[in-house]
Amino acid sequence: MIGVDEALEYVLKHFEPLEPEEVEILDALDRVLAEDVYSDMDIPPFDNSAMDGYAVRAADTVEASHKAPITVRVIANLAAGYTTVLVVEAGTAIRIMTGAPLPAGADAVVRFEETSEGLPADERTDRRILDWEQGAWIEVFEQVIVGENVRRAGEDIHKGELVLAEGTILRPQEIGVLASLGRARVRVIRRPRVAILATGDELIGVDEPLAPGKIRNSNEYSNAALVQRYGGIPVRLGIARDDVEELTAKIREGLAERVDLFLTSAGVSVGDYDVVKDVLGAEGEMHFWQVRMKPGKPLAFGEIQGVPLLGLPGNPVSAMVSFEQFARPAILKMLGKTRLRKPTVEAILEEDVESSGRRSFKRAVITKRDGEYYASVTGPQGSGVLTSMVKANGLAIIPEGIRHLKAGERVTVQMLDWPENVACTEPVEVNEAPLVIPIISVVGKSEVGKTTLLEKLVAELKQRGYRVAAVKHDIHGFEIDRPGKDSWRLAQAGSDSIVIASPKRLALIKRLDREMALSEIAAFLTDVDIILTEGYKRGNAPKIEVSRREKGGELLCTPDELVALVSDQLFDLDVPQFGLDDTTRIVDWLEGKFLSGGGQAPAG
Ligand code: AMP
Ligand code: MG
Repeated sequence: MIGVDEALEYVLKHFEPLEPEEVEILDALDRVLAEDVYSDMDIPPFDNSAMDGYAVRAADTVEASHKAPITVRVIANLAAGYTTVLVVEAGTAIRIMTGAPLPAGADAVVRFEETSEGLPADERTDRRILDWEQGAWIEVFEQVIVGENVRRAGEDIHKGELVLAEGTILRPQEIGVLASLGRARVRVIRRPRVAILATGDELIGVDEPLAPGKIRNSNEYSNAALVQRYGGIPVRLGIARDDVEELTAKIREGLAERVDLFLTSAGVSVGDYDVVKDVLGAEGEMHFWQVRMKPGKPLAFGEIQGVPLLGLPGNPVSAMVSFEQFARPAILKMLGKTRLRKPTVEAILEEDVESSGRRSFKRAVITKRDGEYYASVTGPQGSGVLTSMVKANGLAIIPEGIRHLKAGERVTVQMLDWPENVACTEPVEVNEAPLVIPIISVVGKSEVGKTTLLEKLVAELKQRGYRVAAVKHDIHGFEIDRPGKDSWRLAQAGSDSIVIASPKRLALIKRLDREMALSEIAAFLTDVDIILTEGYKRGNAPKIEVSRREKGGELLCTPDELVALVSDQLFDLDVPQFGLDDTTRIVDWLEGKFLSGGGQAPAG
């Protein structure tokens, strides 16, 4: 059996962002921009009024007040959408509406509320404005300064400015900006076409009458809905009987539809008629996996004539859970998105939970009370009970190797309905490779305080909700399997790997014939957000050097090897430098540079 993370990593290697296409901007919603958008104009294009009021010369209003109003002659009325050739001379004003261009001569706008027009009718002493030609008068009660209540041309966007960068996920506000720039069409990554094929003799269509032994093909609909939700185009191929010819024909039909991904359901578990396996094997190159997860153990993945195929399990809940874990990230990656992780929160269990020891996804109801999330996993968890998904808004993850959790313990919960692009820090993510766990090495001469710094960083990162792995390099070797211990005896007998496992901890002792590179070690550490190492000066992970004046002035690393320095002295270096006790600032920096806020629950 393979692990969930391992399976996902393998699956994702087979997907790349698809090519761009040009679409109408409304069809670009939630998609990834495939061009840099520059502005060929100022926005707003002209100086205009930010208020309903009177366009005036600011100099005319000096020291205006309710007690000593200033009277100006109104020469015109200007609504939004119109221009005037009239000029505001000293002592005059033009009545102006929000958005109307500021007339020549005027340099500020007095709001109605600050003029006699804002007074109740019986308090007004000015002459009613009836006829612009004959002249009307208004009293100004407040001084305005130059530019007051005026929106300047180019205040929002300057001509020539980069407004939206390639890679931006287009939300309604970005669509609005494109419209204001006059862009009716825009280049975005195209949507993947995803073939959906249900298999099984027992299946009948949604509009067919039930017959003995038959059930309705619900997977086609939940899968198609999920494809749609995540931005793909479902291409529904209907039902294939457990029959070689029919299945082969359906697959050929999908290929003719130029799909980017095949999703099948059922027929990949053990007790099945082997036709699905036979056909998939014959038409392409397939792996049939048992994944260490529950529900969703059976999974097939491979390629048919170059098109990836994910064979989801048949049970409706298993199919959905597997879709979320494997098909969803694949679709998002094809769409050019970089946040592939399902949004999670840490929640407190409301009752005891039993688990199988495989990574379990328990359907849960998540509520928030007094600033804490709570997960209730009551209710049927059978993988055929689709209504359990209807009741749930989250999947509580019981980690591998755990069989019981008590009420009050914390679990990570995947939130079923939260969008992936919830950004806690910046709306647009820098193009970081997804799912690559950052590795940062803390290096330095001996006794400078590397372990002390690591201890503090680990504690602070945990505090902020991240999962941390630490790798300690020791050239001299180490001992955890002391002579006489069972693990030692098993090693003496020749085992290449020995795992000591208890319900709470696990140790792997592996015989090596050469030293492992950090990247190889990292392959064992898939369930963390960050890997910190001590040592590995010669590895190529980004390095933070710790140095201390009393241990000798010069550094161990050359400046170009370093990403940061932690020291009690200042160096003439072009990298961030921190003091030995600057834990919070160091972790802020680590977060900004390597973590993109993944450890915290999104707001709301
Ligand atoms: P299988 O993976 O073929 O062993 O199927 C496991 C279970 O899922 C069986 O009870 C099937 O009847 C059910 N099942 C398979 N395909 C579908 C489908 N498209 N819709 C609903 N249930 C299904
Ligand atoms: Mg079947």
